[in-house]
Amino acid sequence: MKQVTVVGAGVMGKGIAYAFATAGYRVYLNDLNEEVLGKAKKEIHALLNNSVKRGFLEEQQCKAAERNLYFESDLSTAAKESDLVIEAVLERMDLKIKIFKQLDEICKPEAILATNTSTMSPTEIGAQTSRSHKVVAMHFFNPVHKMKLVEVIRGLETSDDTVNLIKEYTESLGKTAVEVNEFPGFVTSRMNCLIGNEAMNMLMEGVATAKDIDQAMKLGLNHPMGPLELADLVGLDTRLRNMEYLYATLGEKYRPCPLLTKYVKAGRLGKKSGKGFYDYETK
Ligand code: NAD
Repeated sequence: MKQVTVVGAGVMGKGIAYAFATAGYRVYLNDLNEEVLGKAKKEIHALLNNSVKRGFLEEQQCKAAERNLYFESDLSTAAKESDLVIEAVLERMDLKIKIFKQLDEICKPEAILATNTSTMSPTEIGAQTSRSHKVVAMHFFNPVHKMKLVEVIRGLETSDDTVNLIKEYTESLGKTAVEVNEFPGFVTSRMNCLIGNEAMNMLMEGVATAKDIDQAMKLGLNHPMGPLELADLVGLDTRLRNMEYLYATLGEKYRPCPLLTKYVKAGRLGKKSGKGFYDYETK
């Protein structure tokens, strides 16, 4: 049985662990924070049971996934035997590099090290390891159990073998890979961050309410979710970090909307904190 480690048990890490566990992999979910790991365990358990109830998963698959999932706060224990490690910690280059240096020491030489970054450079991360040919970005989407796309971003030194293996892993999860050459924000985040930022600017300028901006995009432009709803789902802190990186690398067009910065300063992080552009506590 192939073994996969997911580093970071936040919004994305939980979903990625669920996707691999239900596809028959042994999965170690790692986080520094024991409380976060405990919460992730409860949420994955609930999602597994709900998926059985709604007919998306067989009872057997659910039981096997529960058996094959390990929640482990020690990175070495979590990663040393794995064939693939996916990092899903905060969107901060210094943190990602620190973790990849550790993983390079801990992991088997043949293991692939992937980052779930939304915007950042797998080339820069890979260059800090002794295996840049085995470093790649594997960009999942939120919520992972529903979203079919994985963007596979090839760094300068990423080998064809690594890209092909990541595409095989993607297929084995029932998802579709799109290969992208490295450039800040890839295809999806570059486009999506701009749409979201424009919606935030409109809200700040008083063009329309959050609800009406989202409604207009859904009913008029056929977006399945409004840009402000989507930003709340992503997490406003994560979105702000994405915007800051795109602003630093691509320039003025990506200057983060001041309203986004203000919300993050206030602790309004979207769905995960209970309040963002919408209030989830009173719903
Ligand atoms: P999050 O804030 O929900 O979770 C990050 C987790 O990383 C936290 O649980 C934190 O405790 C943990 N962490 C921090 N340092 C760690 C360390 N040294 N070792 C282990 N765990 C550590 O963030 P998220 O929204 O899940 O985003 C994670 C990554 O995925 C980011 O790079 C983000 O850009 C990317 N991403 C996010 C989304 C989204 O919709 N939220 C979508 C695609 C990609």
